Amino acid sequence: MNNSPVSAGAVNNAIEWRHFLHAIPEIAFNEKETAAFVSNKLRSFGFKIDTGYAGTGIVGSISKGTSSRTIGLRADMDALPILETAELPYRSKNTGMMHACGHDGHMAILLGAASLVSRVEFDGTIRFIFQPAEENEGGAKKMIEDGLFEDLPVDAVFGLHNWPQLPIGAFVANPGPIMAAFSIFNIEIRGKGAHGAMPHQGVDPVVAGCAVVSALQSVVSRNVSPLDTVVLSTTQIHAGDAYNIIPDRIVIRGTGRWFSEEPGMLLQSRLHKIASDVASAYGCEATVRYEPRYPVTVNDAYYARCAQDVADKLGMSVTQSAPSMGSEDFAFMLQAVPGAYAWLGSEKSFNNAPLHSPQFDFNDDLIPHGIAYWLGLIENQLGGTDGEKAT
Ligand SMILES: [Zn+2]
Ligand SMILES: [Zn+2]
Repeated sequence: MNNSPVSAGAVNNAIEWRHFLHAIPEIAFNEKETAAFVSNKLRSFGFKIDTGYAGTGIVGSISKGTSSRTIGLRADMDALPILETAELPYRSKNTGMMHACGHDGHMAILLGAASLVSRVEFDGTIRFIFQPAEENEGGAKKMIEDGLFEDLPVDAVFGLHNWPQLPIGAFVANPGPIMAAFSIFNIEIRGKGAHGAMPHQGVDPVVAGCAVVSALQSVVSRNVSPLDTVVLSTTQIHAGDAYNIIPDRIVIRGTGRWFSEEPGMLLQSRLHKIASDVASAYGCEATVRYEPRYPVTVNDAYYARCAQDVADKLGMSVTQSAPSMGSEDFAFMLQAVPGAYAWLGSEKSFNNAPLHSPQFDFNDDLIPHGIAYWLGLIENQLGGTDGEKAT
């Protein structure tokens, strides 16, 4: 990478840490060994450590100069419940768990920046935030509920994610919405079980459930404005155990995604109405559980521009991209404090596997770009970081 302020030694250390972390993946709120590794590293760099936020969450803070200005840089620590199939020398030692989203790389990048920032000049305070449970379980929300920003306030907060769909050097931090809100739903439809040969003696929840799944397709196509972006996907159907038995219940599950509040509320109300009324038309009863999980991830316009300026100065290719229908619990941090979330192109991984694939492996070529981005952002926000001194 041209004009990189990041030394080869620092990159090699970060790669070594990434491989170590890859081998010890841990799932939401159980990132104990991972957290111990992170806090030992931060302590060795001379940071003040605060722990106990969302259980395994860690914040390493470092101050210099006289300014009270403070920024937060966040990495996620959790892995996924996936059986790793890639034959890597540093493959997962924890069967059934793996870093399939590259959070091992995010931690290594942030630790790499931390290892260099202790030796450079800036004016203010930087908080290196390592959060548990980004995947589904809202570790960022829990950290905030546990008093993160009251105890350890920041003026702005920043996050990043590796993005295999984009080439190395590509950088996206759109102002405004960048990732969707998401909800989950669970519909249980109860009928009356019967012999498969004598359906008239029962009330078939399978036929009712299939009608509900079909009717749900009308929500996005008929109820949501064509100008709004919304997804409603049924992803699970569970019913029955035998060829010749009509079961007494069926469970249907799925997820909704949206970018603005009105269609988000509409999904909830239509889901309840369709499930209960369609089930009733078939003589069944439906119970709907609907849980909004993460809000929309919204970048502050000013801080998104700061992030883009930093990337541009580093020679990255700053592009405007369509937002993703994926979701991110950094959204909760951006609701509490203004800031920006960025995608850094990581181009490929082992076997070109996408995020969340059992073959996925974070691309180490991103590490120098990621460290340079964090150091550049510190310079942009707190001034005085001299990249040359960081080697
Ligand atoms: Zn993920
Ligand atoms: Zn992720």
